[in-house]
Amino acid sequence: MPFTLPPLPYDKSALEPHISAKTLEIHHGKHHAAYVNKLNELIAGTPLEKKSLEEIIQATANDESKKVIFNNAAQVWNHTFFWHCLAPKNGGGKPKGELAKKIDEAFGSYDKFREEFTAAATTQFGSGWAWLVAGKDGKLKITKTPNAEDPITKGEVPLTTIDVWEHAYYLDYQNRRPDFIKVFLDSLLNWEFAEENLGRNSVFKAA
Ligand code: MN
Repeated sequence: MPFTLPPLPYDKSALEPHISAKTLEIHHGKHHAAYVNKLNELIAGTPLEKKSLEEIIQATANDESKKVIFNNAAQVWNHTFFWHCLAPKNGGGKPKGELAKKIDEAFGSYDKFREEFTAAATTQFGSGWAWLVAGKDGKLKITKTPNAEDPITKGEVPLTTIDVWEHAYYLDYQNRRPDFIKVFLDSLLNWEFAEENLGRNSVFKAA
């Protein structure tokens, strides 16, 4: 099988009390694992089997006949990326250094960034993701995407993301998505990882 479920970058209880071990057990061990298994099943015996995850995403994006493969491949990438966006210690709050400067340049202030990110994550109707990305012009911006879609198909470099599918927060927050978004911004957002992505100037390799 070409793809395997990467282990979480921390213990499953490491994000408590913000995200429970039970949520991670199901979100990583069941949902993420199911996307990996389904992707392997779908590409077995096809030319896509020889491609990297990022290549599969690009090759199947915007192709209605390959939608199921795209959905599973992109969800594998999005989740591997998302685990790194959560910091077990010293997460959330304001960024520092180069990233702080870039955020001020793009949004005017950290508070404005926060407002815009919260709005994107809150108003993504149904399942999806909210992102901080470096656009093609290098400027930071906030986007939201439905379902499995992600900004890498638009040539943007994701810096951080929040999963706003209900499976990401329902056990811990039930229907209170805004509470989950606040906790992400206050206590979980891994700014060091976001800064690594900014410095990398290319897309995170998830597999
Ligand atoms: Mn998810």
